[in-house]
Amino acid sequence: MTASTISGKCLCGQISVSVSQVAFNKTENVGVCYCKNCRQSGGCLASYNLYVSEGDVKIQGQPKIYQDPNTDSGTTLERAFCGNCGSPVYGKNPKFIGLIAVRLGLFDQLPKPGMALYCKNRPEWDKGTIDGVQEHKVMPEMTEDLRKWLQEKGVSI
Ligand SMILES: [Zn+2]
Ligand SMILES: [Zn+2]
Repeated sequence: MTASTISGKCLCGQISVSVSQVAFNKTENVGVCYCKNCRQSGGCLASYNLYVSEGDVKIQGQPKIYQDPNTDSGTTLERAFCGNCGSPVYGKNPKFIGLIAVRLGLFDQLPKPGMALYCKNRPEWDKGTIDGVQEHKVMPEMTEDLRKWLQEKGVSI
């Protein structure tokens, strides 16, 4: 954890999340996900995430964990939320050990997304108007670039 961090909290304030400022402000780390499970668990059109190394994140308070088995990819995802107010806090995919998807709605600052996932589930009337965003029908394919990006975060795949 670097000295400079930025913090957010759930609606009721019982859980707070701090992220290194450097990781927070990288567009390439920010994504929205339109998958059905993100939508349903958040009650929203898409989840809004910061994908960072777990080492760059500090969580205070005790979120509840839901093991979500019924995903599009078939992977059971860990979804953390506040047991008091219900705010989504983070998600983890066991296929990407060391990576965490912090829910950005917790923060006052809203960094610009660089990628959109599961666009196949985006409704017709949403034209996806985020400037310069990389759109993926489902998850991004495992390209050399993605491998490098994951390696930089210390993720084992
Ligand atoms: Zn709360
Ligand atoms: Zn999703």
